[in-house]
Amino acid sequence: MTTPQPVGFIGLGSMGGELAYRLANSGLPLVVHDAQPQAYSRFEGLDVVQAATPAEVASRCEIVCVCLPTPDVVRQVVTGADGLVQGKRLRTYIDMSTTGPTTAKSMAAALADGGVRSIDAPVSGGVAGARAGTLVLMVSGAPDVVAELDHIFKPLGKISIIGPEVGQGQSMKLINNLMAAAHLALAAEATVLGVKAGLQAEVILNTLNSGSGKNSATEDRFPKHVLPRTFDNGFANALMRKDVRLCMDMAEELQVPLWVGTAVDRLWMQTVLQVGPKENSTTIVKTLEQWVGVQVGQAQGA
Ligand code: NAD
Repeated sequence: MTTPQPVGFIGLGSMGGELAYRLANSGLPLVVHDAQPQAYSRFEGLDVVQAATPAEVASRCEIVCVCLPTPDVVRQVVTGADGLVQGKRLRTYIDMSTTGPTTAKSMAAALADGGVRSIDAPVSGGVAGARAGTLVLMVSGAPDVVAELDHIFKPLGKISIIGPEVGQGQSMKLINNLMAAAHLALAAEATVLGVKAGLQAEVILNTLNSGSGKNSATEDRFPKHVLPRTFDNGFANALMRKDVRLCMDMAEELQVPLWVGTAVDRLWMQTVLQVGPKENSTTIVKTLEQWVGVQVGQAQGA
């Protein structure tokens, strides 16, 4: 049996760390890199090598995945001084971050100069889905390249082929996250209103979830992270706001007016300013709670 080639992974945060850990546990040797040294601790005992720079990762691996917070960081990691473009072995670049179609296309163009093929594979399903291997991967790019990457995608979840072009997976992911952001925003408004009207938060959610008012926030995020007041689904307000902004930018470029999307964008901006960029994205409910003086759910142990 031949030893599998090492795969590079850059960005080992809440999502990237889980993805890389799952790949390492599936038996894939990894070469990893992150800006923060503490990101490496979870890989002790696994076949995982640390690299000092993205260029070093791309000099040791033919395939490199990234899962990074913003378009600017992706640009720095790909085209910066010690970026992936400097690596000698790199042949295939997979972007698992949510950074939008414009960044995906410009990174693909920069890498294509060195003969590197680019694939979009942003993910949905949260940190819990990453741990369980039940994410949806929104994959786009040349079908012959995608066909070579089963060993990377399969351990992570279900592959949804979006199209043959770089950027299409990212467009799909922005549309998905506009929906997720809207679900949270509307669930926050609905539950705060219900509690202010004297209803029990559990009763509101149970009833919505048995009827036509349910969505991903009422079925999952609120019962698991808001009612117990743990606010711990592993996705920060700044990242949700970034995704909604990227979606609004895409809509602006394509001249598609998003009326509801614009209101959702404003409420996420308010939440980042009022509750904080690093707080968990389920804290959007606190923005409204603070305005009207009620609380949805109880403190643990209360
Ligand atoms: P995070 O902020 O938890 O982690 C980002 C990681 O990138 C950190 O470990 C940080 O040190 C590292 N990093 C930052 N700058 C770097 C650089 N220049 N070089 C190397 N490493 C650098 O973010 P996350 O939650 O893991 O999200 C990553 C991406 O995945 C984002 O685009 C996000 O929108 C997307 N995503 C996240 C989730 C989730 O539930 N967390 C779900 C779907 C998609």
